[in-house]
Amino acid sequence: MSAQHNTESNEVRFPEIPSGGRYELLIGGKRVPAQDGATFACVDPYENRDWGVVSSAGAEDVDRAVAAARAAFDGWRWTPQAQRTQILLRWAALIAEHAGELARIQVHENGKTITEMHTATLGVAGAASFYANLAANLHGETFESPAPDHRGWSMREPIGVIGAITPWNNPLLLLAWKLFPALAVGNTIVIKPSEVTPVSTLRLAELGVQAGVPDGVLNVVTGAGVTGRALAEHPGVDKLAFTGSTATGRAIALAGAQRFARVTLELGGKGPHLVFPDADLDLAVEGLLTGITAGTGQACNAGSRLLIHEQVYDTVTERLGKRLSELRIGDPLDPEVAIGPLASRPQLTKVLSYLDLARDEGHRLVTGGRRAAGSESLDRGLFVEPTLYADVDNHARLAQEEIFGPVGVAMSFSSDEEAVRLANDIPYGLTSGFWTKDVDRVHRLSSQLRSGVVWINTWRVGSFQLPFGGMKASGIGREGGLHALNAYTEEKAVWLGLH
Ligand code: NAD
Repeated sequence: MSAQHNTESNEVRFPEIPSGGRYELLIGGKRVPAQDGATFACVDPYENRDWGVVSSAGAEDVDRAVAAARAAFDGWRWTPQAQRTQILLRWAALIAEHAGELARIQVHENGKTITEMHTATLGVAGAASFYANLAANLHGETFESPAPDHRGWSMREPIGVIGAITPWNNPLLLLAWKLFPALAVGNTIVIKPSEVTPVSTLRLAELGVQAGVPDGVLNVVTGAGVTGRALAEHPGVDKLAFTGSTATGRAIALAGAQRFARVTLELGGKGPHLVFPDADLDLAVEGLLTGITAGTGQACNAGSRLLIHEQVYDTVTERLGKRLSELRIGDPLDPEVAIGPLASRPQLTKVLSYLDLARDEGHRLVTGGRRAAGSESLDRGLFVEPTLYADVDNHARLAQEEIFGPVGVAMSFSSDEEAVRLANDIPYGLTSGFWTKDVDRVHRLSSQLRSGVVWINTWRVGSFQLPFGGMKASGIGREGGLHALNAYTEEKAVWLGLH
């Protein structure tokens, strides 16, 4: 680990996390090992070696965690809202205080840059206070009496035990969008973080316990897909909140359907990213760069399927290729580095298999296209060069499938109609975006693009207020804003007869 990053950077402390730590489950407010003693190793993708040992929860551990969450539900549900808000606000303050530490743990887990993980962690603290405060606004509705001798109103109440299953690519922020709205309105939760990034979630939960979240309200079971499946299939879980791949999302939806559990799914994406000839090309090229490389391309909201108008196609692909080749690759703890390693060995294998496919199918390589090498740390770590292929057919696998690495594919179009048709011709529908100065086009395309988010003359901005989620194979439901609070409640109609 580079010593120069251990202490102060822009007055934020990123304290060293010793490797070799052992991390246990959190059940009923206590740290416990798995009942059968099973563990698994966490791998630091920059060092490309084990750095922690984590308990691997089996079905019995999941059972204990769900039972603890069920036992805690009545107490938490009837805790006055103001008290729940106070606890969550204390938790938010602790997260902000420990943001450097939480960011650094995530960098060891998934190799994303310290700048990205620190910003995301401040977003976690923000989400905690946003939902702590918003919960007081939870409300039903009253209706003018549909009959003179009756009154009617609706009320919202918590669903019960939430099973939250999360991915590795932004482990705490993606959890925060579930955890805080769920707890703020009185649910209890069992979290199954990704096996690639379990430690950050355990540390976040520890801060929750320190803030006063009562025993059993918050439980964490670490492990791989089998642990997730045990949670998804558990009859004691009332709602499944999942972020991850479309394939796993389908399995979770099927598990939930067996018992009519409520399900929210945030799944894969491969955003079409359009450039029109009237756009500010300097801004557009930087936007495309972000679309391809943010989070080393390991982002559901990647905008790496580039559709560029034929009039500016050559200029844009050439300039983008140059910018990609200039990016600094290396130690994710170095704030000057733009491209860290991929998060795991399976992820490296997957991305390299797409580079092989591109070679076999003969796509035109503009830049990159290989595992990065040439220094001791690049040779050791799980690095891929920022890559751009041009003239790719929209039906090629490279243009249709989530590569989840810093790899862009470009194709050209000649009219707005063709651009929209190509953009929508993919199973995913999470994000899309375009660069133009034409106000008519802004309105037309923002309606015509089939995705849950549309960015115009920007890429990858977000806030707690606006909804986030996917159409088509990118998911069901929305996170963010009041939607998220409502998504963790059941709405009940109440009738009163007047006699
Ligand atoms: P993944 O589907 O492999 O794993 C996600 C989680 O599900 C992990 O915790 C994993 O252990 C668990 N899991 C695996 N098999 C399971 C099963 N059968 N039953 C229950 N749980 C199971 O996804 P990943 O590789 O961790 O994450 C990357 C994916 O997540 C990408 O497809 C990305 O687009 C998507 N993602 C979506 C969003 C969004 O908001 N829409 C955000 C981030 C990531």
